[in-house]
Amino acid sequence: MNTYDVIVLGLGGMGSSVAYHLARRGERVLGLERFTPAHDRGSSHGQTRVIRQCYFEHPSYVPLLLRAYDLWHELESEAGDKLLLLPGGLMLGAEDSEVVSGSLKSARQYSLPYAMLDRGEIQRRFPAFELPQGTVGLLEPFAGLVRTEGAVLAHLRCAAARGAALQFEEPVLSWTATSAGVSVTTTRRSYQADRLVITPGPWAPELLRDMDIPVSVERQVLLWFQPKGGIDQFRPERFPVYIWHEATHRQPYGFPAVDGEEDGVKIAFFRKPETEVCTPETIDRRVRQDDIETMRASIRRFLPSLDGKFLRGTTCMYTVTPDLNFVIGEHPMYANVLVACGFSGHGFKFCSVVGDVVADCVIQGQSRLDITLFDPKRFGTGPVMKGGA
Ligand SMILES: Cc1cc2nc3c(=O)[nH]c(=O)nc-3n(C[C@H](O)[C@H](O)[C@H](O)COP(=O)(O)OP(=O)(O)OC[C@H]3O[C@@H](n4cnc5c(N)ncnc54)[C@H](O)[C@@H]3O)c2cc1C
Repeated sequence: MNTYDVIVLGLGGMGSSVAYHLARRGERVLGLERFTPAHDRGSSHGQTRVIRQCYFEHPSYVPLLLRAYDLWHELESEAGDKLLLLPGGLMLGAEDSEVVSGSLKSARQYSLPYAMLDRGEIQRRFPAFELPQGTVGLLEPFAGLVRTEGAVLAHLRCAAARGAALQFEEPVLSWTATSAGVSVTTTRRSYQADRLVITPGPWAPELLRDMDIPVSVERQVLLWFQPKGGIDQFRPERFPVYIWHEATHRQPYGFPAVDGEEDGVKIAFFRKPETEVCTPETIDRRVRQDDIETMRASIRRFLPSLDGKFLRGTTCMYTVTPDLNFVIGEHPMYANVLVACGFSGHGFKFCSVVGDVVADCVIQGQSRLDITLFDPKRFGTGPVMKGGA
């Protein structure tokens, strides 16, 4: 008998949740992570991520989101941490923009609460915004933010409390799978288990080379500015999370001031036309002057009071699939290896439910929630010849 039922490779946003949900179901779990808990080298750092329900990307995400909210609240209770803050969310753009029309479609299909605001109403309720003519906003009451490092640490702590063995600063060098089980070799030793879950984040191209999933890794930047007149207009009681679908197809998005005057207000681009493809080894981790200037130009167009002192920034990576939908499912060659990657810049809000879904797939062979949109085989990836690393 193998020492472990399941090895989880990568304990970032997704892997920490997978380890927790497997341990919660009584599995003997080993989690392996190349860096320290809640590190800043992958995709799950920078304090906060947007969470929302009226999902413009595709209505199929909504049932997963509703379950994700329940699981985040359960984790908050179990960990004794406050991880969610829900001041509401404003999806801004022209009426026919993807951000507005897609959000409306999901809201109607799932009878989610929302209100449509015209430009005057947006500016009356949220005076920090100065938006171009023709802009409308879909306001959803249950949108807000998840604390990133807090969520990863809570999942890890609760997984360990339920018996998971979690090892850090132990990079995996290679893995193999046969019908007898899986073997994973790290810089320290080899481990055997019945099954393997790979949650590699931006290391997907390296760890899943043989699967040939067409993901690309992109450099992203998170920036914090000091509003010119102080943070009052940006406090969570008065300011929502938002995404603005600019006519330029840039999508700046941001957060209220959640950590006080000193910390300023965080803003980033969700999507933008120009991309900087990288790997975790080649990414330029500095925040450059051109990152700050591009963001300032956008800020001046819709949120001018945020055009104050630049406080700080950090870089992070998206792991993007061609259709921007996730990859969750069985490895095409190995029934005892499961993969969850390609979260395409919108995965964090789903970490809680991805752990639940993956644990169901590992233990029961399928998820209770519909994950056909995420089928790894949808890209026509051919059979693989060997285990990878
Ligand atoms: C700037 C930015 C803003 C974002 N904004 C949002 C948002 O507002 N809302 C939202 O929902 N989502 C957002 N996302 C997306 C979300 O953060 C990601 O989808 C999510 O964090 C991905 O988690 P992950 O577990 O796949 O990757 P990671 O958290 O990077 O985890 C992968 C882990 O695997 C480990 N690993 C890799 N290789 C090995 C190895 N060989 N051995 C051992 N360990 C290994 C890594 O060290 C890492 O810890 C954003 C992403 C970025 C970058």
